[in-house]
Amino acid sequence: MATMYGDTRGNRYDNSQPESVVVLGATGSIGVNTLDIIARHHERYRIFALTGYSQIERLKQQCLVFKPVYAVVGQEQEAKLLRAALQDQGSKTQVLFGPQALIDVCEAPAVSTVVAAIVGAAGLLPTMAAVKQGKKVLLANKESLVMAGSLFMQAVQKHKAKLLPVDSEHNAIFQCLPEHFESLDDAGISRILLTGSGGPFRLHDHAALQSITPAQACAHPNWDMGKKISVDSATMMNKGLEFIEACWLFGARSEQIEIVVHPQSIVHSMVEYNDGSVLCQMGMPDMRTPIANCLSWPRRIESGVERLDFTRLAHLEFHAPDFERFPCLQLAIEAINCGGTAPAIVNAANEVAVAAFLDNKIRFLDIARVVAEVVSVQSSSEPTCIDEVIAADSEARERSSHFIASIH
Ligand code: NAD
Ligand code: MG
Repeated sequence: MATMYGDTRGNRYDNSQPESVVVLGATGSIGVNTLDIIARHHERYRIFALTGYSQIERLKQQCLVFKPVYAVVGQEQEAKLLRAALQDQGSKTQVLFGPQALIDVCEAPAVSTVVAAIVGAAGLLPTMAAVKQGKKVLLANKESLVMAGSLFMQAVQKHKAKLLPVDSEHNAIFQCLPEHFESLDDAGISRILLTGSGGPFRLHDHAALQSITPAQACAHPNWDMGKKISVDSATMMNKGLEFIEACWLFGARSEQIEIVVHPQSIVHSMVEYNDGSVLCQMGMPDMRTPIANCLSWPRRIESGVERLDFTRLAHLEFHAPDFERFPCLQLAIEAINCGGTAPAIVNAANEVAVAAFLDNKIRFLDIARVVAEVVSVQSSSEPTCIDEVIAADSEARERSSHFIASIH
């Protein structure tokens, strides 16, 4: 199994010039946090392109502040609105739209760094385009790695891209690895301890989980995130997707990863070495820390994050996960063990089910039912190209919609 960085962990980029950055998903939670850091270090970073699907007013404000060469939106209609609004303000930013424009800005030779912060499968193709151009890729869009893990990691190696994990757990693990990391075995690592808060319903029993509303599911106790990942955290599918993400990023086998529920979200994950040492990365639950770490790696920059006050940390708890109340966790682990397109199918079914839940079409516990139903009839052959992944994704979406219609 290929691991991240390949032989590119050394910094081959010229730090004397500002880095030219594309922020995919600039209007989302990760995008906004990324721009917050970039604004603190405007001498180091220049924005080449900002993208957002529909929040045109927010994207307009971002364009006026960061003056990108391009802004990319989802549809032509939004592009017209944004173009007119920007021209009114004397902005020179050019406005593009649609999936190909996302790919085009990522592939531009002027770009050195791409922040992959689109939510869901829509992030796959632009992120892959950045990888194939050998860019520095800051990966928040875990779904692209879940869908196409082996092809994605092969492309990282082949094109000497530099892949840096933004997801807080994976960034924590990354920070706990030795500098010249080749493989877990080579580094003397016995286990990765992947922590998770357990979500807002950690202590709810099965009956209470029945009646969870979208608003309750989106209110995470420790993190302020987009709706989809908030629901994923509530079902613990997020931890399942992160389990798959960790397998690919660190070349880990399933049995080398243990999920640990840690409700305070202060320890962001741990690495256990053969000699019994356990290294962890700690910090306030604020995504600006992992984003800043990736942006400036291997150096460190100020992120604006509040400091940990150890005198106020009364106690830190660690528990085993409950696979019965949170079946999505098991479904994701089984998918990576099964291999092939199973993780892509789980991801697609989950995306459709979460959207239906947010739309009040199914209940909270139905999300796992949809995923279980759709993944049960999947084939497990290893995809040889991205088109096969996309075909599996489309087919799983269709089956998910049918199943949802049957239980709605
Ligand atoms: P969000 O919903 O706040 O933002 C998503 C962004 O993607 C927005 O800019 C939106 O316009 C864009 N987008 C949505 N659909 C699109 C489409 N079809 N085409 C193009 N752009 C589209 O989500 P978020 O919370 O910022 O999460 C983004 C990614 O980062 C997700 O993959 C998530 O799992 C991951 N992540 C988020 C956090 C967090 O704290 N928010 C933590 C770790 C990982
Ligand atoms: Mg995470």
